[in-house]
Amino acid sequence: MLNRSWCTPSLLGLTFAALEREFLEIGLTKLDAKRVFPWIHMKCASSFDVMTDLPHKIRSILEEKFSLERPKCCNLQKSSDGTQKALLEFPDGHQIETVFIPDEKRNTVCLSAQVGCAMGCKFCNTGRQQFSRNLTASEIMAQVFFWKDLLLESSEQRNLTNLVFMGMGEPMLNAENLFSALELLLGEKTHNFSRSKVTVSTAGIIEEDLLKLAQFGVKLAISLHAPNDAKRNELMPINKKYCIETVLNAAKEYLRLSNTEHITFEYLLLYGVNDSDDDARQLAKLLANIHCKVNLIMFNSWSGSIFMGSPRARADAFLLILLSKGIRTMVRKSRGDDILAACGQLKTSLTNQ
Ligand code: SF4
Repeated sequence: MLNRSWCTPSLLGLTFAALEREFLEIGLTKLDAKRVFPWIHMKCASSFDVMTDLPHKIRSILEEKFSLERPKCCNLQKSSDGTQKALLEFPDGHQIETVFIPDEKRNTVCLSAQVGCAMGCKFCNTGRQQFSRNLTASEIMAQVFFWKDLLLESSEQRNLTNLVFMGMGEPMLNAENLFSALELLLGEKTHNFSRSKVTVSTAGIIEEDLLKLAQFGVKLAISLHAPNDAKRNELMPINKKYCIETVLNAAKEYLRLSNTEHITFEYLLLYGVNDSDDDARQLAKLLANIHCKVNLIMFNSWSGSIFMGSPRARADAFLLILLSKGIRTMVRKSRGDDILAACGQLKTSLTNQ
């Protein structure tokens, strides 16, 4: 479906079948769609002018009816560790943040799926920003185009290698648009990202859509953050709907259907809340029969937060217990926390005052 939130409908998030349908509706041909599609995704054209193999008349029609416009960048911040965070604004005035995380071997983009978030996780700065709306597939794709354009313009010869849907919002509550974007991101004739380098994160929305996601074969990360329902209920309201047992059963089913090697469980270490030795032992017991990896995340504080991060020694003790029980675990390196680009810190400036 075309993106109606843009002044002129954007083509950035249309799958080939959808593009073809739109073209036929306005009297263009399947061949026109075949010619335009690679310009959008392989050559990252940001205007129709550059599509020189198309007759001038067709370019004029496209110009009049559609857009390849990128969102406006209202703020671009660079962290001392090279991480960059962009505040992007769409034509209806809604803003989101997206983050670029360069590393020696890989360049990762963290994508947002919604404006704000309705999940209300207690430890999350984004969760304090009221949910406004889902992003369209074009708006999800626009974040990828934004970083690709920026890398093309820069002198650094870098390509995007990894994508994580861990920005603002809950991707599985915007599944239809997420799936359209994934089709474009994974397609050999479009952006050609490797399935093993694309991760979708969920707070634990266990619906039919999770099984559809498995068919894309992308990696799944589940925000667990607690070793039992009592603690998870306190931290993540969604646990009252989908308890830990339901989440773990879904994780096993995802592994079976997606053919991925493991599920990643994200576990934020909150001092005195979920970081005791006993918590670690309970967590190890829960995950004993699941092919998984645990990412322990050091809490990135934000103004007004009621939580404190665990000291490094506590994190190490927690890590050792999990490792001793045979659970693959690492303490995730925090990136970009000096510009509030780290996990759980994203929040647009409009409501950040
Ligand atoms: S952690 Fe994720 S799902 Fe939870 S409030 Fe923050 S953005 Fe939403």
